[in-house]
Amino acid sequence: MNISFPQKFHVRQNVALSEYTSIRVGGKAAFLSEINDQNSFIELFQFCLQENIRLLTLGGGTNVFFPESGFDGLVAIIKFNNITVHADDSVTAEAGASLSALNRVCVDHALTGFEFSSGIPGTVGGAIYGNAGAYGRSVSDCLIAAKILTPKGKVQNVENNYFHFSYRASQLKKNGAILLEAEFQLQKGEMAEIKKRVDEILALRRKKLPPADVATAGSYFKNILDEHGNKTAAAVFLDAVDSKQTSVGDAAVHQKHANIFYNRGHATASDLLRLEEILKQRVLDKFGIRLKREVMYIE
Ligand SMILES: Cc1cc2nc3c(=O)[nH]c(=O)nc-3n(C[C@H](O)[C@H](O)[C@H](O)COP(=O)(O)OP(=O)(O)OC[C@H]3O[C@@H](n4cnc5c(N)ncnc54)[C@H](O)[C@@H]3O)c2cc1C
Repeated sequence: MNISFPQKFHVRQNVALSEYTSIRVGGKAAFLSEINDQNSFIELFQFCLQENIRLLTLGGGTNVFFPESGFDGLVAIIKFNNITVHADDSVTAEAGASLSALNRVCVDHALTGFEFSSGIPGTVGGAIYGNAGAYGRSVSDCLIAAKILTPKGKVQNVENNYFHFSYRASQLKKNGAILLEAEFQLQKGEMAEIKKRVDEILALRRKKLPPADVATAGSYFKNILDEHGNKTAAAVFLDAVDSKQTSVGDAAVHQKHANIFYNRGHATASDLLRLEEILKQRVLDKFGIRLKREVMYIE
């Protein structure tokens, strides 16, 4: 592709996407830019619209992988990350703020309601896109308003109902709008209590998840919801089909968690997808259940 981007966007060419994904899987992005402020992002988005360039927004890259062929367009890494606490105990966070930074701010201001997200890697943008959550709560529970960029490149202020949140899903997955910033409603609490809850959650996560330096994208498959909305962890079915003993090339299932795929070194997307197919088939044969991928594979 021969495109000349205005210099102000600091666009680089042929950048390895493995460097921008926590599972370290992906070929090269034709173009990549790290964007530090909302206005530059809006301008870049509008430029790509005009020039008909495919644009993909990434936050922390903790829930995605790419094919060996990479991404034939521009990957915009969202870095704007201001967090502002308001007098009414709401908090505005820009899309590139990490959930861990937001958590820290909540603890420091004795605000409760966001503790569930302790230890979830990635950014506010990625979390709202996939309605990230843990321990029975998700970001949709405290989001009250947001500023988005519509697929046509217009800035719009929206409320929670715009997102049609459900389990690990939001409207952003369907319509391609981009989250610029989000406002969460929290409540005043006891700082010591909040800190204790955060520490408890972090300890629980340390016990059941691989160490932080393992290259993963979190839970590979979605949990199973029955018709009454009751959830069964996908790991229960995966454990029963010996997922932890299964690997394809350097794509393997971590010994600590039957639903966490990881990259032992040189795993490719093809390895991950083959491993996915094998385990899906086993679970289907044994339980009649069709697992669905939670991690995003972006072709
Ligand atoms: C060890 C580990 C543990 C995890 N535990 C959990 C957990 O407990 N619960 C959970 O829900 N998830 C978990 N995850 C998955 C992941 O951390 C979350 O899904 C996180 O919210 C992804 O954020 P991100 O910024 O990394 O998104 P990315 O991986 O960068 O992007 C994910 C998707 O969101 C889109 N996106 C990113 N930013 C924006 C934006 N501003 N506007 C619109 N779309 C955007 C991207 O295009 C992409 O399609 C875990 C991951 C790891 C590696």
